[in-house]
Amino acid sequence: MFASIIVDITHEKLDKIFQYRVPSHMEGALSVGMEVFVPFGKGNRRTKGYVIDFSETCDYDLSKVKEIQEISSKGVAIEGKLVALAAWMKEHYGGTMIQALKTVLPIKQKEQAKVKKRVRLLLHGEEGRKKLDFYLEKNQRARARLLAALLDEPVLEYELVSKKLNITMPVIRALEEQGILTLESEQVYRNPIRKRKQESRQITFTAEQQNAIEQFWEDYRKEDYGTYLIHGVTGSGKTEVYMEMIRRVAEQGRQAIVLIPEIALTFQTVLRFYRCFGDRVSIMNSRLSAGERYDQMMRAKEGKVDVMIGPRSALFTPFPNLGLIVIDEEHENTYKSEQIPRYHARETAIARAKMEDASVVLGSATPSLEAMYRAKHGEYHLLELKSRSQQQEMAEVHVVDLRQELKNGNRLILSEKLQALMADRLEKKEQMMLFLNRRGYAGFISCRECGHVVKCPHCDVSLSCHRNGRMVCHYCGYEEPKITVCPECGSRHVGEFRAGTQQIEDIVKRQFPEARVLRMDMDTTREKDGHEKILSAFANEEADILVGTQMIVKGHDFPNVTLVGVLAADMSLYSDDYRSGERTFQLLTQAEGRAGRGEKKGEAVIQTYSPEHYAIVNAAAQDYEAFYREEIHYRELMGYPPCENLLAVLVSCEEERLLETGCKYLKKYALRVRGEEQIDIIGPASPGIGKINDVYRKVLYLKTERYVTLIKMKNRLEQYIEVNSGFSRMRIQFDFNPMKVF
Ligand code: ADP
Ligand code: ZN
Ligand code: ZN
Repeated sequence: MFASIIVDITHEKLDKIFQYRVPSHMEGALSVGMEVFVPFGKGNRRTKGYVIDFSETCDYDLSKVKEIQEISSKGVAIEGKLVALAAWMKEHYGGTMIQALKTVLPIKQKEQAKVKKRVRLLLHGEEGRKKLDFYLEKNQRARARLLAALLDEPVLEYELVSKKLNITMPVIRALEEQGILTLESEQVYRNPIRKRKQESRQITFTAEQQNAIEQFWEDYRKEDYGTYLIHGVTGSGKTEVYMEMIRRVAEQGRQAIVLIPEIALTFQTVLRFYRCFGDRVSIMNSRLSAGERYDQMMRAKEGKVDVMIGPRSALFTPFPNLGLIVIDEEHENTYKSEQIPRYHARETAIARAKMEDASVVLGSATPSLEAMYRAKHGEYHLLELKSRSQQQEMAEVHVVDLRQELKNGNRLILSEKLQALMADRLEKKEQMMLFLNRRGYAGFISCRECGHVVKCPHCDVSLSCHRNGRMVCHYCGYEEPKITVCPECGSRHVGEFRAGTQQIEDIVKRQFPEARVLRMDMDTTREKDGHEKILSAFANEEADILVGTQMIVKGHDFPNVTLVGVLAADMSLYSDDYRSGERTFQLLTQAEGRAGRGEKKGEAVIQTYSPEHYAIVNAAAQDYEAFYREEIHYRELMGYPPCENLLAVLVSCEEERLLETGCKYLKKYALRVRGEEQIDIIGPASPGIGKINDVYRKVLYLKTERYVTLIKMKNRLEQYIEVNSGFSRMRIQFDFNPMKVF
């Protein structure tokens, strides 16, 4: 028996893996992740390493293979646990062990310590508030915003002030000259944002919140660790529940990781956690340099923090005694990695928690079908928060049938109803958001008169329009010529459904010349921090109307927004994959949740050609259960996840012919090794983007009931690819239960 050992895991180049012989007395005692001592290099220096794999054969000259000396008395240290997690990820998601290790282990990088700046308030309460009133009166919004934040929290990191509050240096300098604040510099090499713990505001939990906390805690106290799904409407107080759970876990000397999509990691959220946990909380975000990230990881490892908050990658924080992983907005697509290994944070969190005897808490107002399916099958414990913590009303929702608008002679993308409500809000000086739930490139074909959408006869997803004038299925490759007449009603108003935010902005400006309009989309947010700037300008009430893509419905709370318009719900409804119904339901529900956050009641208008579609009917009724029932029925019928499992094999190559041949062989091999197993092998199909940077792409889908069957297939295919030099010029990636069609 041989073991693969990785010797230096802090090295930038992790690809130093060596094989050692396992002495017979260690067989059975050794497992992946264990720390061992091995003789290394010419001088056989006694060196620490970690076991990452076992094999029966050795790739090197047998006479030169050395033996493992000793198993470290530390057994499995934190690094070892992460190595074991990497091994799990490699097995479940494909790719190499090196790629998995690079994802999981904190990589050390030499870097200069940075000079950090902080803004400190010099005025006292009463004085400060007077000054604030003065700024408000003078309409000096940026100054007012900064002062208000400082009155709330007298010392703020400069980074937080500039990035999250969108305050420029001249504004800070101006207030400094007036003796209102001071800008301090400090050579720090630590937490990027530092706060002291505050007297935490005492809240009384609602009965539902209390119940959720106690259910979790009862199991936890008995060391009965599991996965919990909190299904709670927006504003039901999920974050308060997480914080209480974390507080109890931390009291036991254990640590917690909180995953939050980056866009939802707002100033307010960050501050809430600081108020609860003070200096014991650390925030990770994508703007940190590699060195800062490493530094934070080390602080976590040394036990200097209890809570790490961040996006997906914070999952790998090397806590010595991890007790809880919270995943907020668990339905978000960003929890799936787009790089190899294409892991999903939810599944990976559960795997890590199992290895470390920890619990996982998932939360969402619109849980993913995956999570709810598992909860209903008893894999997760379901905790429900059905009412808002302060009993605020949900928005009133109007569904507008765009076919009817066309019949009435209105060809604009703004319906009569929406225009009337917009005029009303402008009058009342309340704000509104217009939202185009567009995604990707895929243009589906629909009839403007009857709403009919052309679908694949085999896959029940919309066909996409390709440049060559054909309509193509992105799963199975089925295609037919583009229609010119609606097969349902004979209308000639058929075509690709397209509309852009720029176009909407122009129409809005034409219809409401007096309105101040902001637009947020890929174009306007290209520059660094672009989207935060737009959002904070809107939060600041510098505009009446915010027009944008899905990015505007996430994150920020705008208390003065009382109207949300979804301009064409069909755009996400008929995108070309099996998750389109789910995504639409989530987007619409989130959009509705944006209206009426403050005291004033909100309204939402959903415009669509398919008012009878269950995703729209149920989103309008804000009925998750009913949506879930219909959606899961469709998934069951078609064999899509979570009912069955789907593996996408994405093949890319610079030569089109070679790619085609390669895919043919892969498919043939897959058919051969599938044997008696029930596996559907679908494709190869051309993805929506058939060529990127002159590299051609094709995708093959494997569908079956059991995930392990797909893992076996993946392993067979990986071996096949490795030994056949024909594939050497192709890049092959695996994606299990992909979030989107390629
Ligand atoms: P969610 O995360 O479910 O959207 P939050 O935890 O952000 O909800 O709660 C929404 C608002 O309600 C927050 O300002 C929060 O402090 C407040 N809140 C939540 N629970 C309570 C409670 N039991 N009593 C008073 N305020 C609460
Ligand atoms: Zn028609
Ligand atoms: Zn198809």
